[in-house]
Amino acid sequence: MRYAIISDIHANLEALQAVLDDIDKNKIDEVLCLGDIVGYGANPNECVELVSERCRVCIKGNHDAAALDILSTLQFNINAKIAIEWTVKELKTKNLNFLSALPVHETINDITLVHSTPYEPGMWYYISSLEEAAFNFKHFSTPVCFTGHTHLPMIVEMDSSGDTYLNKKKEVAIENNAGSRILVNVGSVGQPRDRNPKSSYGIFDSEKNHFHYRRVAYDIEKTQAKMRKIKMPEFLINRLSEGR
Ligand code: ZN
Repeated sequence: MRYAIISDIHANLEALQAVLDDIDKNKIDEVLCLGDIVGYGANPNECVELVSERCRVCIKGNHDAAALDILSTLQFNINAKIAIEWTVKELKTKNLNFLSALPVHETINDITLVHSTPYEPGMWYYISSLEEAAFNFKHFSTPVCFTGHTHLPMIVEMDSSGDTYLNKKKEVAIENNAGSRILVNVGSVGQPRDRNPKSSYGIFDSEKNHFHYRRVAYDIEKTQAKMRKIKMPEFLINRLSEGR
């Protein structure tokens, strides 16, 4: 099976369409989504509808949860809060229902899928360091775990002796029979923060046990113009062209 794993779309329709076009060119069997379909961008309904059509599995992210329960924006900064308040008013009931039914954790074919962390996935903790990644390896048992949430691509490997290390490359092959495991952040489709404004997602070939990243250019100015029209905070608009 060849899987495409996408995450953190954040209602950025141009980015999602560009990534789906790239997926169509890459002989993908199934698309898996790690959540945060909404929040920040101007097209929450269109993005929810596309994800529900195209993805076999979708996980709930913290912005999806916040659109359903405004109280969970307590930990949000002011920009995220403004964006989610607009999103709540905009979302159609059927799309809110779709978000509401999403799980925070799923395992398919030996792959663990979460938005934030395998440890307490509904608490929206972050994995930002090797130490946090090492802790999280204890909380899933499959060879592969995919996450999103930080919007920063990251590959952490655990070898058969249980040592963890950062893989700085854009791909990884797991030696499954040698007992090695990987925890991979696939980066963000709709709001990358690693100083590369191109959309990030990953492709995992479960037969070859190989993962690699894809970066896809999209019409950022079009997205920004839509955000300006609905008066999203300038900071959220500007960060897209800088990828931060
Ligand atoms: Zn996010």
